[in-house]
Amino acid sequence: MKAAEIRQTFLKFFESKGHQIVASSPVVPGDDPTLLFTNAGMNQFKDVFLGFDKRPYTRATTAQKCIRAGGKHNDLENVGYTARHHTFFEMLGNFSFGDYFKRDAIAYAWELLTEVYKLPKERLTVTVYAEDDEAYGIWKDQIGVPAERIIRIGDNKGARYASDNFWMMGDTGPCGPCTEIFYDHGDHIPGGPPGSPEEDGDRFIEIWNNVFMQFNRDEAGVMHPLPKPSVDTGMGLERIAAVLQGVHGNYEIDTFVALLAAAKAAVEASAGGAAVDAESPSLKVIADHIRACAFTVADGVIPGNEGRGYVLRRIARRAIRHGYKLGARAPFFFKLVAALVGQMGEAYPELARDEARITQVLKQEEERFFQTIATGMLILEGALDQAIAERHVAEPSVMFFSYTQEPLPGVAVVSFIDQQRKMSDQVIVFDDEPSPAHVQALNLTGKNIHRVKRDANGVVLDGATAFKLHDTYGFPLDLTADVCRERGVAVDTAGFEAAMQRQREQARAAGKFKMAQGLAYSGAATTFHGYEQLAREGATVTALYVD
Ligand code: ATP
Ligand code: MG
Ligand code: MG
Ligand code: MG
Repeated sequence: MKAAEIRQTFLKFFESKGHQIVASSPVVPGDDPTLLFTNAGMNQFKDVFLGFDKRPYTRATTAQKCIRAGGKHNDLENVGYTARHHTFFEMLGNFSFGDYFKRDAIAYAWELLTEVYKLPKERLTVTVYAEDDEAYGIWKDQIGVPAERIIRIGDNKGARYASDNFWMMGDTGPCGPCTEIFYDHGDHIPGGPPGSPEEDGDRFIEIWNNVFMQFNRDEAGVMHPLPKPSVDTGMGLERIAAVLQGVHGNYEIDTFVALLAAAKAAVEASAGGAAVDAESPSLKVIADHIRACAFTVADGVIPGNEGRGYVLRRIARRAIRHGYKLGARAPFFFKLVAALVGQMGEAYPELARDEARITQVLKQEEERFFQTIATGMLILEGALDQAIAERHVAEPSVMFFSYTQEPLPGVAVVSFIDQQRKMSDQVIVFDDEPSPAHVQALNLTGKNIHRVKRDANGVVLDGATAFKLHDTYGFPLDLTADVCRERGVAVDTAGFEAAMQRQREQARAAGKFKMAQGLAYSGAATTFHGYEQLAREGATVTALYVD
């Protein structure tokens, strides 16, 4: 069953149960200041749950465009690392506004999964909120799920992956206990059942959450009962599609196969024809991010430096960086809009209608970032090599750093000079063990020569470098962190914030000074070209660092 058919089957099933089919709302929520982007199907019904708004129906069903790249539900960091997370995804949902409650919601979900989609019952495991004896009883006695496959789970706030059976839209708003349905993809995949220490894995994948909306949480965290108990459910279309198409990961379903192929072709063309590994996680990141970016632009956001525009910029630049990593040296990302329209333009006509503008907006952003990415990456890689090397020498105060792509790609040599200005230590930082011939070619002359693998757990990139990359080269902090994570390095985010704060204060002080003087500098602008020079030299770059 193709994703389009699975979506249609879901909506038709709930229509047959008296639900009104309602169109997806935009990814930019209409008038909800508590929310950056739509993160669940229930968002457009928030006021109905709260009793502020009334609809001509008490049952609804939707396929909702969602973005989870910030705020309470943030999956940006998971993309490329898990089989099941996207920044943009479609959430299939059914809703009861004071109409049916737990008993019917659970029965509908089970009927759809086992009789319509025909999933084998023994592959399904369910969780209920720890104290929810009612939901537990319904699963056990009414549906007949064996007790060993009904797991009680409490609230698990703060844990990144851990299951949490109390669902909240955000820090405030409608919320309630929930029951979730997991599919077991088989014991050949690492991971354990929900609630177990191994649940981080992707063996048991959560496919459907049924929330029993009962409270409105206020800013002080107090829970006020809703006027009428209601139901809000969400099932990720991509996750159920993976199950129904007999594949494990979301990225193997029909819509993604096409997008991944387009991403591979676009990157290869921009990398001068060099072949890209079809299994690279970077391709998944790119295929995921084009959806988030295109749908966000379609709903009226443009890349910028704050709010929604900055989230969009962060996602776009992250995708571009992954393309760069695969060898792209010119804009490629914007070209994927056409492939996406081919996949999703029918279900979401706003994409097709706006294709030319979306392409143009993303192209502009990409051209802009391509002006600084090469230099920024060089600085970042250099800083990482230095930070890694510094751990291995006694006196790292003065050093001479050389980054070498020839004769050995993926190798850097960081040389340290002692107080007498003599070469003391040299550290070879490498991806793969350099051969003896290569080591010889590196021309090492230090007294102590160390070899260090590139991925370096425990090393931290300093906040000042992360800030310089942000401020001068347009590297959002999460992009820098993403590059660092690939090498096992963490980022000093407190140092980053401090550098940002310092710069704000300096700008304020400079502003005051200018006013006091009553004069602005009117001489010729000066530009520092040092780093661009480094980038141009590319193959063999040498820079001198003195204290
Ligand atoms: P997970 O624990 O896997 O992160 P979740 O518990 O955060 O999921 P819910 O808030 O319960 O997810 O959302 C309802 C459903 O939406 C999930 O059961 C899942 O099918 C789907 N879903 C949630 N987040 C994502 C995502 N980032 N990408 C794709 N589908 C998602
Ligand atoms: Mg989640
Ligand atoms: Mg979950
Ligand atoms: Mg959930």
